[in-house]
Amino acid sequence: MSQNVNKQALLDQIKAEILRENVCPDLAETATNLVMGDGNIDADIVFIGEAPGKNEDLQGLPFVGAAGKFLNEMLATIGMDRSDVYITNIVKYRPPNNRDPLPDEKKAFWPYLTRQLAVLQPKIVVTLGRHSMEYFLPGKRITDVHGEPKRISFGTQKVIILPLYHPAAALYNGSLRETLIDDFAGIPEIIKQINKSK
Ligand code: URA
Repeated sequence: MSQNVNKQALLDQIKAEILRENVCPDLAETATNLVMGDGNIDADIVFIGEAPGKNEDLQGLPFVGAAGKFLNEMLATIGMDRSDVYITNIVKYRPPNNRDPLPDEKKAFWPYLTRQLAVLQPKIVVTLGRHSMEYFLPGKRITDVHGEPKRISFGTQKVIILPLYHPAAALYNGSLRETLIDDFAGIPEIIKQINKSK
């Protein structure tokens, strides 16, 4: 319990710093909320999307629109729900008109994301789409590496990365959708292997 309180306090501190350091002031100006994350801070799995959309911005929570509904459905297929995982984005403010996050915006938020992960200490980080993948697996293409877990180091942290397609991209594309569901189905086995190797 006290570890949880500590973790939450540290996450709150990161949020306060993003506000105090005025990260991406143009995005902050047009956004309603800074969307930090949601879910279980003690989870083995952290999912990282790209940036909040309209619903996420209004509610202050990640993945609560159509892509979020699909993510919830996929979690259910492996016997999980949102209380079993933690969900965040690389960019914490909604880009106007749902445009892709810019390279400078991803770069500005990357240090805060790595600090979030240092606090959360997940066993596996699942990147959703290329925007959150590119910092963990620079130079890789999602078409080549999706669904393949990779053990990586960044800064002083070591983690298993599982790159997946973004649920929004898969939502209306039948073959991507199937690929994403298949890749998702591999998650329990990856966690089992990690637990075995401890
Ligand atoms: N897409 C994302 O990448 N993140 C969200 O929070 C919602 C949609």
